[in-house]
Amino acid sequence: MKIDLHSHTNVSDGIDSPVALVRSAKVAELSVLAITDHDTLEGWQSLPSEVGAGSLTIVPGAEISCRTTGGMSVHILGYLFDPADTSLSELMSLTRDDRIPRIKKIIELLNDAGVEITFSDVAKHSESAQTVGRPHLADALIERGVVATRDQAFAKYLHNDSPFYVGHFAPTPEVAIQAIKRAGGVSVLAHGLAGSRGAIYTVAEIEALLPHGLDGLEVDHRDHDQSARNALRKMADTFQLFATGSSDYHGAVGSQRLGMELTAPDVWEGILARGKGCEVFTV
Ligand code: AMP
Ligand code: ZN
Ligand code: FE
Ligand code: FE
Repeated sequence: MKIDLHSHTNVSDGIDSPVALVRSAKVAELSVLAITDHDTLEGWQSLPSEVGAGSLTIVPGAEISCRTTGGMSVHILGYLFDPADTSLSELMSLTRDDRIPRIKKIIELLNDAGVEITFSDVAKHSESAQTVGRPHLADALIERGVVATRDQAFAKYLHNDSPFYVGHFAPTPEVAIQAIKRAGGVSVLAHGLAGSRGAIYTVAEIEALLPHGLDGLEVDHRDHDQSARNALRKMADTFQLFATGSSDYHGAVGSQRLGMELTAPDVWEGILARGKGCEVFTV
């Protein structure tokens, strides 16, 4: 049983449409796939619900973009929350709205440094998206011939510690965790020790999220080295948190493949039992 609890569609910064993602998940022989677009539910909501005889279980979810009071970017995965919950919806909508002026500010900084790029270049690459993100800007830089791949764009211009980085409105991780909980959902810290992406929490800081209701830690993720995985798994064991594994798939680019990291069936059963805000469905 292959269970992958983190994926993106072109409703945020993934490449595949929701239907194409489902098709790829079936080719990859997944049994369970969580669709966790950044700050929007539109990807899984646009799939025909309850097709009945489907072989793939879809877990409704989202990846909430958060920022700590110290200014660090943190992603919290939410599963099985009530999609009609107003406070969670409001947080996501404020974030989505502020992402547009934020991308424009990054473009201004790039222009000041002599990189030719416009917002309409980015808009071309985010037509399907409710959530505009740096990967769309990366796609525009590729089209302009400035870089060759999304990874190169991040390494050179877009990473979290770059002089071109600008944040956007985002709840703190504590607020997001509490909002997911109030909406009946399950929260998991995404790629919490992925140092290649920028500043990360200390283990003690992650532990400080637990009283706010954090339910789990994404342990197996391509951006975690062995020591990061060991530290997170130990913390999950100590505090009885769900230890998940997932692809964080954005499309078949670089090393990304659906199901490249997996969640154990007993962990998935625990998440399913705890999530009270909505039901899974099959496609
Ligand atoms: P944004 O939501 O606009 O801040 O962009 C965040 C997204 O950019 C993440 O979900 C990843 O898909 C991607 N990303 C972040 N850091 C990196 C990195 N260092 N290399 C490649 N992709 C990254
Ligand atoms: Zn993303
Ligand atoms: Fe993320
Ligand atoms: Fe993600």
